Amino acid sequence: MSRGAQATVDLGALRANLRLVREAAPQQRVMAVVKSDGYGHGLTAVAQALARQADAFAVTDLAEAEALRSAGLRQRIVLLQGPFTGEDLERAAAEDLELVIHSDWQVEALATAHLPAPVGVWLKVDTGMHRLGFPPEAVQEAWRRLADAPSVRSDIGLLTHLACADDRYDPATRRQLEAFDAACAGLPGPRSAANSAGVLGWPASHYDWVRPGIMLYGASPFVAARDTDPALRPAMALEGQVVAVRHLRAGDPVGYGASWSCPEAMPVGVVSIGYGDGYPRHAPSGTPVAVAGQRTQLVGRISMDMLAVDLRGLDGVREGSPAVLWGDAVRAEEVADACGTIAYELFCRTPPRPQRRYVDGRGAW
Ligand SMILES: *Cc1c(COP(=O)(O)O)cnc(C)c1O
Repeated sequence: MSRGAQATVDLGALRANLRLVREAAPQQRVMAVVKSDGYGHGLTAVAQALARQADAFAVTDLAEAEALRSAGLRQRIVLLQGPFTGEDLERAAAEDLELVIHSDWQVEALATAHLPAPVGVWLKVDTGMHRLGFPPEAVQEAWRRLADAPSVRSDIGLLTHLACADDRYDPATRRQLEAFDAACAGLPGPRSAANSAGVLGWPASHYDWVRPGIMLYGASPFVAARDTDPALRPAMALEGQVVAVRHLRAGDPVGYGASWSCPEAMPVGVVSIGYGDGYPRHAPSGTPVAVAGQRTQLVGRISMDMLAVDLRGLDGVREGSPAVLWGDAVRAEEVADACGTIAYELFCRTPPRPQRRYVDGRGAW
């Protein structure tokens, strides 16, 4: 018998979430962000599920882009950090990949390259995040050099990234969009600024292309729980099963370090998921979990292969009962919140060990 530790990915939920992108941004084209192994959901499985709905895919590097091409995906593919070396240009041209260009050496490399075919590029503008991109005052000059490069296709895109859109009331987003408009004034070509938070919260950021990531996977991009969009459908469920039901006495400690003790005589369940399955070890006692369809809480420290749950007041729990660590009944955002992180990180850290299972449509988790 297997441990029953599995990460189930619902491909139907991915498609439903992409339809929500279309509802929020009906005039725009959609660049579905599938970097970091499809946010831990499986790069090629996610891309194949979205292939008919997405206008393009966005990934971080050539390895991810080439994996998509090898899997037969013919869509436009954008490398969000562009080439990392001069050799990347040849391979990008050969695979018909589009490059985000954020620094002078990349412009220089394109200006002097002799490629078998011209490549598509997106010029990245740093409008205030101060991570990658040209400062606004350098944009027109960089654009002209790209436009003059014979290896660059003529439809140069313009792109920026929003630093604070996850707070619907932060004025920084408005300032970034103004800086973007000013930096790109008079330049032709498609524009793109919106991540998931931009798609859902900032219509002014939609421009020509939107770039949703986390919302495709069914998690809210917003920091405040009140801004969670209930229509998003979690695409991943991390599930285990109850492997033991213990009847403990008042004062009995549970788990490593005896960090938690039973306040009264009570049943405690041991579940077959641990940090070796990607569940965060620092999840504190009290973090929500669903056992046999009922919400309850973690107690004690997370082990590598196991964790313990409070079974007080729960009906019908026995060995073999299912436990959902995140999915529908408990949202990844809630677990992330309890752990001081974000759902993005929980998803990306799902290791290969919990068995990955793909389904297409399902009942509630
Ligand atoms: C990751 C990423 C996105 C998607 O962001 P989400 O918050 O997951 O929607 C969009 N654009 C760029 C440049 C990114 O790196």
